Amino acid sequence: MIAEILCVGTELLMGQVLNTNAQFISRRLSALGVTQYHQTVVGDNAERLEEAYRTALSRADVVITTGGLGPTVDDITKRVAAKVAGKALVLRPEAEAMVRERFSQYHKEMTPNNVSQAMFTEDTAVLLNPNGTAPGAIVQMGGGKVVVHLPGPPREMEPMFVDQVEPYLRKRSGKALISRYIRIFGMGEAMVDERLRDLELGGNPSLSPYCSTGEVMLRATASADTEETARAMLEPVVDEVCRRLGDVVYAVDDDDRGSLAKRAVGALKRKGWTVATCESLTGGMIASTLVEVPGASDVVKGGFVTYQSVAKTMLVGVPAETIERYNVVSAEVASAMARGARERLAVDIAVSATGLAGPGGGTEAIPVGTVFLGISTAERTVTIPLRLSGDRARIRELSMKNALDALRREVER
Ligand code: ATP
Repeated sequence: MIAEILCVGTELLMGQVLNTNAQFISRRLSALGVTQYHQTVVGDNAERLEEAYRTALSRADVVITTGGLGPTVDDITKRVAAKVAGKALVLRPEAEAMVRERFSQYHKEMTPNNVSQAMFTEDTAVLLNPNGTAPGAIVQMGGGKVVVHLPGPPREMEPMFVDQVEPYLRKRSGKALISRYIRIFGMGEAMVDERLRDLELGGNPSLSPYCSTGEVMLRATASADTEETARAMLEPVVDEVCRRLGDVVYAVDDDDRGSLAKRAVGALKRKGWTVATCESLTGGMIASTLVEVPGASDVVKGGFVTYQSVAKTMLVGVPAETIERYNVVSAEVASAMARGARERLAVDIAVSATGLAGPGGGTEAIPVGTVFLGISTAERTVTIPLRLSGDRARIRELSMKNALDALRREVER
């Protein structure tokens, strides 16, 4: 099954609105194993929209539109699709009931043009919109092809897609598709590819890599007649990937929401440990990423943002002489920061980061991208030197990710 996304709205062409709908739907389609070869954005213009429909329908089985379902004259998405299908829009009582219910729920007056939101072709399946007034639709276009209409606002579109369109697509494809997401930190894309090349042949199961700052995610997908068969096909591939890559694999999940912070918080919980942070160049990112994980309050006790040297001394007791003697970007200072944070907050483990994010301030001895992490437990305090490259944002993000990885490794040691 081939799908194509067609986003309607002049505001998208003008750059006033970022096309997050296309990203959201694409990710969900690829997780479902639905192929996509093209995407289109078209303004609120009937002629160009008609051309876009005809082109999309010539190469895809399912065309998914977002936007332009409102009651105003520039909301043309449904009308033009009906024209392309060669069918008339008629008032559908069940859709009218949905629109009326939404208006009464919002205590709003329904104007006559709102009734247009309940007009669909005769054989259209209407989709409920629990978060807005415009119902969605699955429109029969002839030749077994369909156009799926979804509203523009993401908070209306996303639940409608997940709850109503995905089950339809699954049923239509007639196949069970299972994906597992393998998250890797500490090994570059090229090396991952080197080790797995013979497994990445695009067959069934398939293995596709996705890269983000410092990380690689592999999606392993199997398709079969039943979920059990797909799962059984997938398992040996996932096991083989984990065996070949070793402990750089930090998560294997059913969705793509795994994170280094989740793993670190999980490890801390299992061990019953509390953690504190002491951050310089990351300015609180390590702590804030940890607390993104629900339930982090069980393990994250607190943290210090010690940006200037004087704060390192005042807040966590790093001796001024240590800073003077070794430089503020040094293993000695990272170590004293971690130890100080652990003692002051009486936690089981503390993590620290000091470094030079740039762009200025680098020297030959300490170039931009030099970072030292510290990890302190009652048993030992260790430091990790990093030489990172990239701009300021990337160096800070990589420092945070390395700190979270170092934290989970020490807890799991
Ligand atoms: P409404 O009933 O609210 O008018 P609609 O289905 O007619 O909904 P549009 O009027 O096209 O949708 O868009 C409404 C808003 O939804 C836009 O102003 C924009 O904020 C958001 N939106 C539309 N398309 C997208 C998109 N592709 N990605 C992200 N947001 C979008």
